[in-house]
Amino acid sequence: MAGIYIHIPFCKQACHYCNFYFSTSLAQKENLVGAIIKEIELSKDYLTGETIETIYFGGGTPSLLEVSELKAILDTIYMVHPKVDLKELTLEANPDDLTAAKIADLASLKTMGLNRLSIGVQSFFDADLIYMNRAHNSGEAQEAIKRAQDAGFSDLTIDLIYGTPTMSDENWLANIHQAFALGIPHISSYALTVEAKTNLDRNIKKGKSQPVDEAQSSRQFDILMREMAAHGYDQYEISNFSLPGKHAIHNTNYWRGQKYLGLGPSAHSFDGASRRWNVANNQIYIKSINEGQVPFEVEHLTPAQQANEYIMTSLRTMWGTDLDQFQILNFKFQIIEALEQMDPALYSRNGNIIKLTQQGKHFADHIASDLFIDE
Ligand code: SF4
Repeated sequence: MAGIYIHIPFCKQACHYCNFYFSTSLAQKENLVGAIIKEIELSKDYLTGETIETIYFGGGTPSLLEVSELKAILDTIYMVHPKVDLKELTLEANPDDLTAAKIADLASLKTMGLNRLSIGVQSFFDADLIYMNRAHNSGEAQEAIKRAQDAGFSDLTIDLIYGTPTMSDENWLANIHQAFALGIPHISSYALTVEAKTNLDRNIKKGKSQPVDEAQSSRQFDILMREMAAHGYDQYEISNFSLPGKHAIHNTNYWRGQKYLGLGPSAHSFDGASRRWNVANNQIYIKSINEGQVPFEVEHLTPAQQANEYIMTSLRTMWGTDLDQFQILNFKFQIIEALEQMDPALYSRNGNIIKLTQQGKHFADHIASDLFIDE
């Protein structure tokens, strides 16, 4: 079982908080799509023997591609990979791209497996969208969702961001309830974080943007968890909520340590023992691919690094960390020892399964690092 991720590194405008790799110039779009198609050929042995079950177009903004470009990429994947048993094909889309014509075009990709749209809503309030410098407004977000549903895309997920200084707790609650009212079966929700070298970071330092308040983020995370649980959504990963049976298969496979191939600039791949990541530069990527070389760096993971990745990701899921997964007994003992030093209000242990409590979910990364195995 394996997945393919395709990174489309273009956006209409830069959201202030974003630190993903993308370009706001579309001049290289055609060349880039051509290079991704070549990379599919060049990387065809990476997942040898595996069955491809999921494909995910992320970015950047994949909805900026023409349907013919998406189709050409998919055609090549299906031609090059002999074993495909598709369970999920997701496309990330921004609301302002989802016009009636675009949705109708995208619907034509259903025959190629497209069955899920991930819509970058972020908030249903214009003040928040302006603060984040999103390219759409609230009305466009709601229209895009309805159009997608009318075109038969019932498997929708939306992103919502909390902790924005412009967002009161009441508006955050209204955002969540708006998602319920629209019948969205899956929601990914993250706290606004100020990443280094982003416009948000620069604007806050210059006093042009209000800073982010951690107490507000923490409160709004609690509101999120409470409301989701009350409305029947599983918090199957700290930032991901779904109605029963609507978990994202592609992302869940990342968290379960399954193999995946990443295509396109800055995309990461994992083969079970090593990680590699493509160069985050469109020009260099296109040039190198056209010369027959995938431009990547690689890191071979030691047993301790593999164990730590498993701790980091599994602890964030509702399935928790299974101590029986550690082949090296000493690793298991080190974790048990670290747990004994930890505040018992932060985690629960049932046999060999360790899970975070609601309080612990506020400190997931910190707790994971306390459990990390020393090299
Ligand atoms: S649309 Fe997405 S990838 Fe592009 S700048 Fe905004 S957050 Fe980043």
